Amino acid sequence: MSRFQKAMYRRPDGRAIVYYAWERPLPPPPADGLAMEPGRMELRWNAMLGEWVLVATHRQGRTFLPPDAHCPLCPTIRPDVPTDIPAADFEVAVFENRFPSFRPDAPLEGSSGAGVVAPAAGASEVVVYSPNHEAGLAELPEIWTRRLVEVWADRYEELGSRDEVRYVFIFENRGKEVGVTLTHPHGQVYAFPFVPPRVVQERAAFRAYADDNSGRCLLCDTAALAAKDGQRVVVESDAFVAYVPFAARWPYETHIVAREHRRSLLALTPAERDDLARVYRELLRAYDALWGVPMPYIMTMHQAATDGSESLADHLHIEFTPPYRARDRLKYLAGCETGAGTFINDTLPEETAAELRAARWRA
Ligand SMILES: [Zn+2]
Ligand SMILES: [Zn+2]
Ligand SMILES: [Zn+2]
Repeated sequence: MSRFQKAMYRRPDGRAIVYYAWERPLPPPPADGLAMEPGRMELRWNAMLGEWVLVATHRQGRTFLPPDAHCPLCPTIRPDVPTDIPAADFEVAVFENRFPSFRPDAPLEGSSGAGVVAPAAGASEVVVYSPNHEAGLAELPEIWTRRLVEVWADRYEELGSRDEVRYVFIFENRGKEVGVTLTHPHGQVYAFPFVPPRVVQERAAFRAYADDNSGRCLLCDTAALAAKDGQRVVVESDAFVAYVPFAARWPYETHIVAREHRRSLLALTPAERDDLARVYRELLRAYDALWGVPMPYIMTMHQAATDGSESLADHLHIEFTPPYRARDRLKYLAGCETGAGTFINDTLPEETAAELRAARWRA
């Protein structure tokens, strides 16, 4: 695949917008448009749990399920109806969120002395997959997913090179069931000023596994075992395997895992990137075919931290957690999950994998 062209512009309110282009011309610099919403943002230390909480009050004012004609992620066609993307056409666009959780110049607004605070320094980016309002990655030709892999790798590299950024977190919330307020297909990237606790927890598990298994990587072994056993596999390729984890927390949870030990997207060869795009899209198609409706999900990508530290847990993988336990039944995080931190899975991973495999052949 050809290398993209890229243009980074600053808007009047200081936020960056980055366009990626392969075939179409790069859009011109933005004139004006929608501006960032004011509000209080800071990190507060939750001493009971030993973790940071992001306080971002302006997020309460986020655009909530606007009519399609007022979608802020569509190209700007009429100057009197500005969107977040001040261009008439684009291929992939990335911009700093108007309602950020982290931002590069995050202020420290002071504290009452009641607890520990820190500036929410970092970045919150929105990645708009295409100008098409209706079609997601599963419906668009595979080249769009392939391009997205390049964009993800570029965001990881660019944000990860900043001094204040210790972890680049790529994710997507899809569907109103998981709180999405805009239906136009898009994902997000958060550049964290700390390594988030979920990753710290994974790192500890990898360390413990290595200690018990002569230094071996937990996920190298887990992916190989899942592929060999086959019962929980949904999609496979030379370089990646997508499977329902043995002890999945969520009924239709799947993980896409690099078969070889790869620390991040940047470590993938071009052929491996092709493979990732294919497996990713096929998995999405299986999800959508399962019940014949677009499957809501949370997608999260775990890769190496960008703070210079190395961990055995730096093994690229992508986790999908759809919120349903059956076609019309949502899985809620109730007492046992929320208060005790222990998940109850109402399904058998071997069976949900078989359902997803069957759906894949119908897709
Ligand atoms: Zn749109
Ligand atoms: Zn590994
Ligand atoms: Zn993970």
